[in-house]
Amino acid sequence: MSHTLPALAYAHNALEPNIDARTMEIHHGKHHQAYVDNLNKALAGHAMENASLEELMAAMSTLPPAVRNNGGGHFNHSLFWTIIGPDAGTLSDALAAKIEEDLGGMDKMKSDFANAAMTRFGSGWAWLCVKVDGKLCICSSPNQDNPLMDISECPGIPILGVDVWEHAYYLHYQNRRADYLAAFWNVVNWSAVSERFAAATK
Ligand code: MN
Repeated sequence: MSHTLPALAYAHNALEPNIDARTMEIHHGKHHQAYVDNLNKALAGHAMENASLEELMAAMSTLPPAVRNNGGGHFNHSLFWTIIGPDAGTLSDALAAKIEEDLGGMDKMKSDFANAAMTRFGSGWAWLCVKVDGKLCICSSPNQDNPLMDISECPGIPILGVDVWEHAYYLHYQNRRADYLAAFWNVVNWSAVSERFAAATK
């Protein structure tokens, strides 16, 4: 089985002005494609060549760095394209209640999430996750790591994530990561996040 680049469910310019079309073209068509190609190269002839992305994440401590970087990259971007979009969708009552209960409400969650993303030095991701105990948490990870990896310092099932590599925002926002993060909330698809929450907690 070889891994393939998932198609976007919307046009490259569908997220403007929050995320510009050129960034989307390069980010999806070049960066994500490179993670897919390099993951396939790294897995060629490997015992886990036919494993799913989730199986790879769970076995990451046994796998070479190229699988960590490119398998993480493929998983993270595949998730990212689905939790953003031109339609804000609907936040489920169940997720809204859980954000209130575990994270002090939506405003506090957004502020803590942005803080996790701002304080991630260099390249990485910030996440909203369901932990093993069922509670929500916010954390960040370096490079292309994610909370599904067995080596993660914040293990859990990610339901929302933001890419804070400069390639995700530099063309439009240059060094202004905070502005990119503020605009990110305008393109979150809450239906998709709510579906991931329901799947992670059932
Ligand atoms: Mn990226």
